[in-house]
Amino acid sequence: MRIARIANARVVTPEGTVEGDVTFEVPESRDQVGHILEVGSATSPVDQTFDARGAWVVPGGIDAHVHFGGFGTIPIADGFYRGSRAALAGGTTTVIDFVEPDGEESVSHALGRRLKDASVSAVDYMYRLVLTERYEQQINDLPLAERAGIHDFKLFTIYEGETLREDDLGFIFERLSDDPRRTFLVHAEDPDEIARLQAGHGDSTDFLELARTRPAESEERMARMLWRLVDETGVRLCIAHATTAGTMHLLDGPAPARGEFVAETCPHYLEFSEDALKGADGCLFTMTPPLRTAPDIEELWEKALAGRLIISTDHCPYSLSDKRGTTYQSVPCGVDGVWTRMAWLYSEGVQRRGMGMGTFVRLTSENAARFYGLYPHKGAISPSSDADLAVIGDDQWQVRIEDAPDALDYTIWEGKRLAGSIVRTYRGGSLAFDGERVLARPGSGRQIDKTRMDA
Ligand SMILES: [Zn+2]
Repeated sequence: MRIARIANARVVTPEGTVEGDVTFEVPESRDQVGHILEVGSATSPVDQTFDARGAWVVPGGIDAHVHFGGFGTIPIADGFYRGSRAALAGGTTTVIDFVEPDGEESVSHALGRRLKDASVSAVDYMYRLVLTERYEQQINDLPLAERAGIHDFKLFTIYEGETLREDDLGFIFERLSDDPRRTFLVHAEDPDEIARLQAGHGDSTDFLELARTRPAESEERMARMLWRLVDETGVRLCIAHATTAGTMHLLDGPAPARGEFVAETCPHYLEFSEDALKGADGCLFTMTPPLRTAPDIEELWEKALAGRLIISTDHCPYSLSDKRGTTYQSVPCGVDGVWTRMAWLYSEGVQRRGMGMGTFVRLTSENAARFYGLYPHKGAISPSSDADLAVIGDDQWQVRIEDAPDALDYTIWEGKRLAGSIVRTYRGGSLAFDGERVLARPGSGRQIDKTRMDA
């Protein structure tokens, strides 16, 4: 392989920031992955040098929660190719998506369908399997999923066909607790409380009802129940898109006796309050759980600034025509984020709130890499890690949908001024984004099997 160097940068490594260079392999064919060779000042000859002039170099982002294509009945506006282009332009080199059996669909059919979807990916990707109410059959198909590189799971406490009660969850955790490589990402909202509140409020075009009928306590009750199950079964569990102060307080309490209990949140929960649900554009800011209040936002920031969260996007955009003309119960829930996640956190966390770059790296890649078993192949700038690198500069810019590398027709981040931008992205040593154009080809992203990492 050829050798390249990013020079004169501020390189954020697990040991702290190093002023100097990152030297890495550049693959010459599609089946190769470039690795990092040297960090710090280097004098060995290289084939190409990029002078990063004081910019930061961080590990390529890991967005541990995206939905590219297929989920629910209304098609998501982003498929794997366009979504992966947005990821790369945003400094993200790895995403974790879902294989979700639909209704009676078998695991093997869902797997085939989703692997086909991902065949055009330009970003590296990993899959987790959604276990639905048909989990007993699905668990019998685990060897199949594992052979296909899937060792992680998504569970829901709510949603038709997917509602798993405490007894179901306990059963699944017990059955699957024998392999510590497995992880569980759980959507935590109380189905009974929400059904009761929605029946009482009726349907309407007031999108604040989304927040009123899916209250903070509903998430917190499920989060506490999940903590107990982790304590009993010793599984490794992440609360998906945590939104509330109460869930954050759970992280301050005692750790479970066994297993691991962590939480993920998303940029939109750190940026917007439920006020965004008011008015005619309220429908555009709909996702579940819903946006919360200012005190919740402050608690989320406190945990973020302490480096205690995984920040993923739950990227799941819909088109304007799908969002408009709906009610709070019929609107397709989900928003975009994969393009802006890293530049936004650099701007709002590092530039505006004094977050250290070590913390920035933990939130955008390292914590996810550790939890999902990818570290230090990914999530670290160290010799022999994959050469997944994002170069971040201090240029100011304003988010505009017409500049987005995926062809969405709106973004919740429209007009947001960011004090930082992605200068370049390298995926496995290949230049995937040059600051203006995405260079990575469809299909150049690789599926990751954490049990078969090569470095
Ligand atoms: Zn999701």
